[in-house]
Amino acid sequence: MSFVFVLISSWAKCIVRVNCSYCFRPAKLIKAKELHPRKRGWLYICYNCKAHVGCHRGTREPLGYLATKDVRRLRHRCHKALDPIWQSQIVTRSETYEWVAKVLNLPAEEAHIGKLNKSQCQKLLVATKQLKYQFYGLLQKGDKE
Ligand SMILES: [Zn+2]
Repeated sequence: MSFVFVLISSWAKCIVRVNCSYCFRPAKLIKAKELHPRKRGWLYICYNCKAHVGCHRGTREPLGYLATKDVRRLRHRCHKALDPIWQSQIVTRSETYEWVAKVLNLPAEEAHIGKLNKSQCQKLLVATKQLKYQFYGLLQKGDKE
């Protein structure tokens, strides 16, 4: 009985319904290599909006919300700006994301770069730059526009 329950619940976990963040149609789960020959794993795609999002390594669980190319680029820039903050070990990763939640006025579960839209990314980039000025007194290398 419990085995069946475990089986059903783990099966249910595999089925994640993901909709496009733009047109709200159901996204299609494809192998990432269908899009980029060198990419591994899975991704959710909306062919209508040309938006997609990757999955957590080894899973079919999306990293966040589907994003178009400009938003994926902005998210990449957010990671480049934000990751060194917690990697510096001056603050922890969770403290950093608590700060992100506060800056963007989001609940903790939404304060992940993979879930941010264009304006949220832009706001975060500005705030991160201000934070770095505050703490380091100068822009770090790689922050040049
Ligand atoms: Zn769409």
